Amino acid sequence: MPMKISWNWTVIIKVTKCCLFSSSKRGPAASQARLAVQIGTREERPSATAYSLGGDTSDTDILLEKKGNINALQRYRYQDYFDNLSKVYLDTAPNLLNTEEKLREVVQEEIANREKGCPSTGGSNRLEILNARYWSLSQEWWRWRSALHPGTQLWGFELWRSHPRWYMHRDLVNDCVGRQGCCARGCGCCVNRKIDDSRILGVGHCTLECACCERARGFEIPGEEKQRLKELYKISLEKGEDFRSRAIVRVSIWGITGSSWRDPFDMIEDAPPSYAEVSKIKGILKRP
Ligand SMILES: [Zn+2]
Ligand SMILES: [Zn+2]
Ligand SMILES: [Zn+2]
Repeated sequence: MPMKISWNWTVIIKVTKCCLFSSSKRGPAASQARLAVQIGTREERPSATAYSLGGDTSDTDILLEKKGNINALQRYRYQDYFDNLSKVYLDTAPNLLNTEEKLREVVQEEIANREKGCPSTGGSNRLEILNARYWSLSQEWWRWRSALHPGTQLWGFELWRSHPRWYMHRDLVNDCVGRQGCCARGCGCCVNRKIDDSRILGVGHCTLECACCERARGFEIPGEEKQRLKELYKISLEKGEDFRSRAIVRVSIWGITGSSWRDPFDMIEDAPPSYAEVSKIKGILKRP
């Protein structure tokens, strides 16, 4: 008798909240448990039906779920999405991820302002402005999250994001190192950032608002330059030739990366990267 759970974002938020401050579970057993939850959320479909809707399971998806090879399952979902649906839903994932970046900026600016003692701007408390901005962005986030294709894209996203530390995937840590974020210094800010339950959508790596990065840099980035850099790192698949954007989307939505057939959950860094790990990553970055 399959477990009956109606899968919706409330479930993910609950899973995320309950796991965020506990030690992350790793290994095949934890991956299988996540998969079992996802499988348990779907209703059995009739063996044959003449009519199909977006969101119906395919034979391949069912077979790969049964085998329990999460890498193969997520690769299949990614491929299916890009082969059949990406032309229609091209902007959804980049827009979702760009909104998440803005949420992180808000959360990190809030932390920076608290550290500096809540400076006021234009007569209004900056924290109040940021609080309202977080609310608006969370509306925007839901708009894009609910626009993911309710098939292989959404299933891949739900499975991957069921891990509260999905953003500590090796490739996302690597990207933070490349941008000289906190993962480049081993201070552990990205994994230990003090974020409460009301700011759960703002988890992740350093933005240009990170106070620790500013201290390490030794200067504040001027407004215009900040805008230019934000634009530079914006995720866009419009022209279909931006391979950084493609890689970030692939790893943030499906948790998979080229040249790795490991279980994606095993690619999550548990602890703040040690200096040895950082040097290793930097070594990879130096490769031509
Ligand atoms: Zn730091
Ligand atoms: Zn930082
Ligand atoms: Zn980081």
